[in-house]
Amino acid sequence: FDLRDADLKKLAELGQGNGGSVEKVEHVPTGTIMAKKIVLIDAKSSVRKQIVRELEIMHECRSEYIISCFGSYLAEPNICICMEFMDKGSFDGIYKQIGAIDIEAVSKVALSVLEGLTYLYDVHRIIHRDIKPSNILCNSEGAIKLIDFGVSGELINSIANTFVGTSIYMSPERIQGAEYSVKSDVWSLGITLVELALGRFPFSDSFSDDDNLSDLDEDRESPGWHNKTPTHRDSFAMNAKTAKRLSKRKSKGVSLNGGGMTMSIIELMHQIVREPAPRLTPEGRFPKEAEHFVDACLLKDPDERQTPKLLLTSAWMDMARASTFDLKAWTSTF
Ligand code: ATP
Ligand code: MG
Repeated sequence: FDLRDADLKKLAELGQGNGGSVEKVEHVPTGTIMAKKIVLIDAKSSVRKQIVRELEIMHECRSEYIISCFGSYLAEPNICICMEFMDKGSFDGIYKQIGAIDIEAVSKVALSVLEGLTYLYDVHRIIHRDIKPSNILCNSEGAIKLIDFGVSGELINSIANTFVGTSIYMSPERIQGAEYSVKSDVWSLGITLVELALGRFPFSDSFSDDDNLSDLDEDRESPGWHNKTPTHRDSFAMNAKTAKRLSKRKSKGVSLNGGGMTMSIIELMHQIVREPAPRLTPEGRFPKEAEHFVDACLLKDPDERQTPKLLLTSAWMDMARASTFDLKAWTSTF
């Protein structure tokens, strides 16, 4: 494919993230449907060219667990990445639509993510760096694939410079400034799995204290704020939204000392480091093997946490491989 803007017809808006936006497009000369990610990067043109060169690695990624890429090009000042379109979207959208996800489907997500991470690391020495529900996609064939992995060092640098790197899925060691390793991705996978299985962001209990958010005037208007005993779902909705908005604000250049706003995401970061890690609860609702797996992902000390490759040998992953759960049929229910 020789890709350029003039050949791509926009069919729909798929979503917006911190780094840019994603559109469903048709490559008119060939009739191919694609997802086009537009990344606005505030960097020198030479750096942008370097990023496009580095993105070439995406072409060489051949795995059923990794999104395939048609190509990337520079459309100054943007970088466009054209990839395989996944018609069922990302897992954040899926659970927000249908609620908590069946634990057997969650086990298949875990298996696919571990296979994808292992492929990226063993074959290309790539660490994903941004595992979360919105970066795990699904299609109506029942395939589960990873997107938005850290192929380009220059892209990671440019994004780090705009604060987008701050994420509520970040591991304790990352929050404390340690180097990224494949094990940091395992932490993010653990948080993601709990979120999918419970159908809500898992830090609600430890982050529902009003004091943490008392500087956030806007949130006083949110449902549940005046309620003396908010439900978990209310406090989740408020907190996840708040965290998301805060990380977006930061990406727009609000200073780290910009008043109470940014303090509360820092407060959440403190909680991740200090409080016990989230778990699959209540006890007994989920298979023991799933509980053990999640606990292993969410060990705070990265030296104790296993690699993706080793986790593939866990009892829960054996169950996932043996499971007759039909993902393709499942995707046809939403
Ligand atoms: P962040 O910028 O913090 O990573 P994000 O992952 O939600 O947040 P984007 O990566 O810009 O933001 O993606 C926006 C949305 O576009 C995603 O939620 C996903 O649903 C959708 N999307 C991305 N790539 C594809 C694709 N290849 N096929 C279908 N939908 C996609
Ligand atoms: Mg993304």
